[in-house]
Amino acid sequence: MFKPKTIFFEKAIENYELGKQLLEKYKEVPKVEIENHNNIEQMRKQENKEFLNLKRNLIIGVRKTHKFVENHKTSDYLVPYTSSGCTAACMYCYLVCNYNKCSYLRLFVNREQMLEKIIKTAEKSEKELTFEIGSNSDLILENTITGNLPWTIENFKNTKKGKLTFPTKFDMVDDILNLDHQGKVIVRMSVNPEDIINNVEFGTSRLEGRIQAINKLKDAGYKIGILIAPVIMVDNWKELYLELIKQLESKLSANVKKDAFFEVIFMTYSFVHTKINEEAFPNAINLYNKEQMTGRGKGKYMYKNDLRKDGEIFIRDQLNKYFPNNEIMYIV
Ligand code: SF4
Repeated sequence: MFKPKTIFFEKAIENYELGKQLLEKYKEVPKVEIENHNNIEQMRKQENKEFLNLKRNLIIGVRKTHKFVENHKTSDYLVPYTSSGCTAACMYCYLVCNYNKCSYLRLFVNREQMLEKIIKTAEKSEKELTFEIGSNSDLILENTITGNLPWTIENFKNTKKGKLTFPTKFDMVDDILNLDHQGKVIVRMSVNPEDIINNVEFGTSRLEGRIQAINKLKDAGYKIGILIAPVIMVDNWKELYLELIKQLESKLSANVKKDAFFEVIFMTYSFVHTKINEEAFPNAINLYNKEQMTGRGKGKYMYKNDLRKDGEIFIRDQLNKYFPNNEIMYIV
């Protein structure tokens, strides 16, 4: 259970039900009032080596930007929702890039306003829309602090149209198992070989827990996606990912294997990651590999094309072999 070291909060959260609940829940935790959750000077000025310490704080504010971004993968829109950042510390997390050192967990208490915009957009549209509500954080993790997922699902289930989806790397799903979700929620579990989880995805749930969570969610009627992401080309990567696919094949229930879909994403990395990881995790493996990677925009890296192509063929072949009836939505 996450216990914040300090809470940084905007005064306005006192005007919201969830804001009041969180202040009460953490009444014993030291607090610092802030003007704006986007710019907390005393956090921004910290050195990279303080990265993990920064993540022990909790920031609570009111979300001001509500812009939906079009998306063409598993959803129609990426929607800013109830949190950004995370208390875990995956070494490649793209939120680090977007928010640099500020990838600590920020909670936004104006959930009514955010969900209402989703519902209105869904109902106005002629097309059945899917909204990605977890692209800025991990909602299963956030839920252990806020209880926002049962609240969201309960308040969304009776809408005439629309679906919600989110990815996660956590197994604490029990809170949403007994809800009447009306088939409107797609949960996408992100998986990686155990070795990579242990050495790169610090603070997330173990593989075994994630697999059991998928089985439980499917039994509870949720539509399931499995994200193999990000694929990291360490020395023996083909061996590791083949083992992962075999483990999934043997441990996922027949119910899951009936219709779960796959997404596969190769890792992208950045100069900012390198700097933070070198200082925050001096003993961890180096994910930047000059031989394998090429530039992709300013300060960003991706695997070279020929490696990616070879990797894509390998993963597609293995998935087709072990999961012949399951759709691969995309490999990027
Ligand atoms: S669990 Fe997700 S949001 Fe959290 S650090 Fe890892 S990749 Fe980032």
